[in-house]
Amino acid sequence: MRRSEIPGQEELKAVISRLIDDERVPHALLFQGVEGGASLPLALYLTQYLMCDNRQHGDVCGECSSCLKNQTLTHPDVHVVLPINTNKEVKVKTKDLHSDLYSEDWRDTITKNPYLSLQQWYTAIAIEKKQGFIGAGESKELRSKLALRSYEGKSRVFIIWHADRMNQEFGNKMLKNFEEPNPNTVFILVSESPSKLLPTIISRVQRFQEEYYSDAEIAGFLMERFELDKNEAMNLAFRAEGNLQAAVKEASDAGDPWLEVFRDWMRMSYRRDLHELYGWSEKMSANTRETQRVFIDSALKVLDRCFRMGWLDIHIPMEGEEADFYKNFSPFINASNVKGFMDILEEAAFHIDRYVSPRIVWYDTSIKSVRLVHQGKKATASS
Ligand SMILES: [Zn+2]
Repeated sequence: MRRSEIPGQEELKAVISRLIDDERVPHALLFQGVEGGASLPLALYLTQYLMCDNRQHGDVCGECSSCLKNQTLTHPDVHVVLPINTNKEVKVKTKDLHSDLYSEDWRDTITKNPYLSLQQWYTAIAIEKKQGFIGAGESKELRSKLALRSYEGKSRVFIIWHADRMNQEFGNKMLKNFEEPNPNTVFILVSESPSKLLPTIISRVQRFQEEYYSDAEIAGFLMERFELDKNEAMNLAFRAEGNLQAAVKEASDAGDPWLEVFRDWMRMSYRRDLHELYGWSEKMSANTRETQRVFIDSALKVLDRCFRMGWLDIHIPMEGEEADFYKNFSPFINASNVKGFMDILEEAAFHIDRYVSPRIVWYDTSIKSVRLVHQGKKATASS
C-alpha cells in the first residue's frame, strides 16, 4: 500500500515513516481505527514501507521485490490473523481453524478493496450468519510460525486485523510475545473497538490513533478513485457520515454478490422460462430468511440504479461486467414497471417475514416479474 493511496491521516503517516526511517519501530503497536476508516490500509502501508528496499522520503518505491510482494499480499514474511469461522468449504475443528485457510480469499478481497468492513469480510468468506473470531487454532499457528526464521532474513510482520475479536487464549499468547519480543518481528494490532481489548494488552503496545474523516476528504478520495464528479462524490460522502468504508462500498458496489443472481433472474424472466424460474425459486428459498432479505434489498438498489440510468438518463460510473449488465438491462426498467417491481419485492419481503413458504413466495414473485419485464420492454419499444 502506497502512502499516497490513503486519504488524509497526514500526521499519522508522518509519524509512521519517521519511526521506520529512524529504526525505532516498536515491536507491538496498535492502530486505533475510527469506525469504517483506513486502519487496515495504514497497517499495510507501514508493513510495506518497513520492508521497502528503496524508500522514497516517506513513501514506498512500489517497484522493489518487497514492494511487489506486499502489493499483491504475497510477501512470505507478512502474516495476517483475521476473524474467521468455518464455512461450507473450510470444515475443520475450532482448534484447527486459522487464517491461512482463508489466505486466498483475503488476497482476492483486499487487493480489490482494502477499505473493507468486517461484515463485508464475513460475506466474502460466506460466514455472514456466524461471528468471526481469533482463537486457539490461531495460537498454534502463530507458535509454529514464530519458531521459524523469516524467509527473507529481514523483518517479519504479523497483522492482527480486528484484534478485539481475539479470545482469551490468543490474547495470552500475544501477551507472552510482547513480554519476550522476537527480534525483527513486529506485531500490528488493528482495531476499531480498542476498548474491547484486554487492558494488559493495551498497556504493552504503542498506540496510534486514526483521525476521523471529513466529508471533503472522503469526497476527494472518491473523486480520485472512482472518477466521480464533485457533486456525486459530496453526496456519497455526506451520506456515509464519516465512514470511508461505507462510502467506498457505495461508490463501487462491485462486490455485490447478488447482482449475478438478480441478473440471472431477470434473464429467465425475459425468456419467460417458467421451468428455470421454478429452479431459481427453489434455490433462493433454500437461503435463510435473513439472506433472502439481503437479496431483496440488493435487488431494490439495482432496480433503482437501472431506473436512474435508463429512464432518468443519469450517469453512474462503473466498469466491466457490471457496466454491461446495467447498460443492457436498464432500458427495461422505466416508469411503466419500476413501481411494480418495488411492490412485488416488498410484498415478497413481507411474506417471507411472516413465514409464508419461501418457495411459493419466490415462484409467485417470479411470475409477476415476467409480466413486469415485458411491460418495460413494451414501454421502451413504443417510446
Ligand atoms: Zn520498495
